[in-house]
Amino acid sequence: MRTVNAIAAPSATEPLAPTTIERRDVGPKDVLIEIRYAGICHSDIHTVRGEWGPVPYPLVVGHEIVGVVAEVGAEVTRHAVGDRVGVGCMVNSCRECDNCRAGEEQYCLNGNTGTYAATDRDGTVTQGGYSTHVVVDEDFVLRVPEAIPYEGAAPLLCAGITTYSPLAHWGAGPGKKVAVVGLGGLGHMAVKIAHAMGAEVTVLSQTLSKKDDGLRLGADHYYATGDPATFEVLENRFDLIVNTVSAVVDLDAYLSLLTLDGTMVNVGAPPEALPVHVFTLFGNRRSLAGSSIGGIRETQEMLDFCAEHGLAADVEVIGADAVNEAYERVLRSDVRYRFVIDVPTLA
Ligand SMILES: [Zn+2]
Ligand SMILES: [Zn+2]
Repeated sequence: MRTVNAIAAPSATEPLAPTTIERRDVGPKDVLIEIRYAGICHSDIHTVRGEWGPVPYPLVVGHEIVGVVAEVGAEVTRHAVGDRVGVGCMVNSCRECDNCRAGEEQYCLNGNTGTYAATDRDGTVTQGGYSTHVVVDEDFVLRVPEAIPYEGAAPLLCAGITTYSPLAHWGAGPGKKVAVVGLGGLGHMAVKIAHAMGAEVTVLSQTLSKKDDGLRLGADHYYATGDPATFEVLENRFDLIVNTVSAVVDLDAYLSLLTLDGTMVNVGAPPEALPVHVFTLFGNRRSLAGSSIGGIRETQEMLDFCAEHGLAADVEVIGADAVNEAYERVLRSDVRYRFVIDVPTLA
């Protein structure tokens, strides 16, 4: 075991505070990563505040991790000391079920092992990336291409793959009209990736306050959903709608914007159940779908795609002492577009 510096949530109601945690010894198939940057995902905040269920406190969150390989186990073949690597939302899965065998470990039928707050296959509780080091099985460690700046790479491990996977699955590309609902951490990556895939991209945001940003990120059009005329103008327009909003939305209103065989896929997670009229789905043979992160193979494909197209997240780098303040700003949507912790400030 090795003791490393971290920032942890002591409880649902206290601020995060510096502490130390234990990392397991580097096993034969393990990689020890010296973490450089860790992104702050909205899920981190929901989790530490107990909003998504019981939490094993004290808890270190963070599942947008990039760093350098510091040590490898004797049987590791995919990574070497000094490599630029990343870890996303999961660090293990059963590897035997149909979904794991299909390379869709995020949908492991026995439950994938989350990067934090999960019970790992060895019985220990996983602790995330707000920490100077992490030990991860090599199969769940990604290569981060040189072309992507470290800090801009971190959010790709959650926000990037969460949007890339549905865009790839539903065929965003030339000739396709894609709408992105919400321009936050997920939404800004969806716009960049959909544009790079060659789709015609429209942002649907509550107001026009981020319109200049949206167009700069690659959107062709930008509409305010607060304006009822938007839903008339855009009726029957889109092949794919990627909804990144975690709040309640009027599904029927958005579904009515889909053209023949169009799909609305949800990647934001409102806690409430949302009603939908089946008649809205009858029209244009529409589909309502969901998508959760991506498998390891696809996550690597996403990183390579981003390198090839010069994509990275727009980030604001902060020191470890500014995380609590950053949480408050995330809750106010006051970040463009992702906070990333400069992890060596923890040392
Ligand atoms: Zn996340
Ligand atoms: Zn499985």
